[in-house]
Amino acid sequence: MGQKITKKELERAENLYNEQRFDEAVVEWKKTLKRLNKPQDKFQLCGRICSALCDVGKYREALTFAGQQCELATAIGDSNFKAEAYFSIAFCNEKSCEFEKAISYCKRAQHKHPEKSVISGKTFLCLGNAYAGMSEFRRSWTHYVRAMDEAKSTANKVLEIQTSAKMGALFCRLGDHESCAAYCNNSLELLGDLMDDDPDLKYRRQVVVQIAEAFRKQGRLAEAMDSCEDAMKIAMQYSDRPVQARCLYLFADIHRKRSDCERASPRYESAYSIMSEIGDRVGQVEVLGGMAKTAVLQRDYQKARELNNKALDLSTKADCKLGMLRCHARQKLLNEISPGDDTGQGHETYVKKLVEEMELFCGVCGDVIGQKPERLEPLSCGHFVHARCAPHLARSTIGRAGRRRPCPACRSNSSRNPVLPLT
Ligand SMILES: [Zn+2]
Ligand SMILES: [Zn+2]
Repeated sequence: MGQKITKKELERAENLYNEQRFDEAVVEWKKTLKRLNKPQDKFQLCGRICSALCDVGKYREALTFAGQQCELATAIGDSNFKAEAYFSIAFCNEKSCEFEKAISYCKRAQHKHPEKSVISGKTFLCLGNAYAGMSEFRRSWTHYVRAMDEAKSTANKVLEIQTSAKMGALFCRLGDHESCAAYCNNSLELLGDLMDDDPDLKYRRQVVVQIAEAFRKQGRLAEAMDSCEDAMKIAMQYSDRPVQARCLYLFADIHRKRSDCERASPRYESAYSIMSEIGDRVGQVEVLGGMAKTAVLQRDYQKARELNNKALDLSTKADCKLGMLRCHARQKLLNEISPGDDTGQGHETYVKKLVEEMELFCGVCGDVIGQKPERLEPLSCGHFVHARCAPHLARSTIGRAGRRRPCPACRSNSSRNPVLPLT
């Protein structure tokens, strides 16, 4: 009798999940969880609950189920289970911007299960995201590449969709909008192959909002608005809080770019409140930056300064170097427009130091990367060079004996550096 009920409940939950009604699926799963006896079954169900909670932005609650998985794995005494539990903990931590913890748990997962497995590709993706959050772009890229290799070699389309979108997001941050579009479109194309009732279609709205962001950065505001409205509509339909917050932030930014502070401000406020609720500190830093820029438009420099300080504080706590850099640069600008108590010395030094730390310069020409939109070329070591500089690198990488010279930035040997035909 009990087993019958359990089976029915599980079926119902599965249907809800497939319809992307994640919150409702979680309610059903929680009921079933109480009825299960076998630790292996409980473990699997905790994993499902954990990932469904992450889908709706409830990362902190998700973490408690990842913790339960960890306890169950210890009881079962199997290293595969342990590896999966560590991955779940890493996943929740990455989502709630606890990047150091995410990295540490990913490494534990890899240590428990170093060979190719279902979780190994996901672990590389999670590491890539955590490093991206900390603005360690070189490490982020190399981990994305490994996730992508794994996705292709195991024909894991869903992993490819996610990794390709994240690679696009990385290029967007570095100001290469052409590459961003190429990677995002690759994700969209793969998503197009999914059936209408596939829950993995949830990734589509994340890609669309990324495309909206790239349009916004290029000043293509009407297109940004269209993509953002598209993503928002679906995010509302499926109670996807993280994407809703992202859309609100972009709406606000678009209005600000159009000098419409009246419309921008309430949208920044709403984005901020969702992001603080779900624990997206990196997002909060971006929103505070947008609010500070709005205050500058309104010539309220005192408010701009306060908002900027708050952003600096948060980005320091989240270890988000790009956020810190933007705050220092903004503070320097603010001091030029309206001198205050802060003499402004030091900000330039911080900016230089952060650029160095993030290795945000082209190894060939030495210019800073990401200051203006430009096509980039990643090298196998993870360093980026300008695409226009890559031919020079190719020439210089062929030594006298026809041997490749290392990447100018890190001098690591690389077999994948672009090479021009010698003829
Ligand atoms: Zn260059
Ligand atoms: Zn390098």
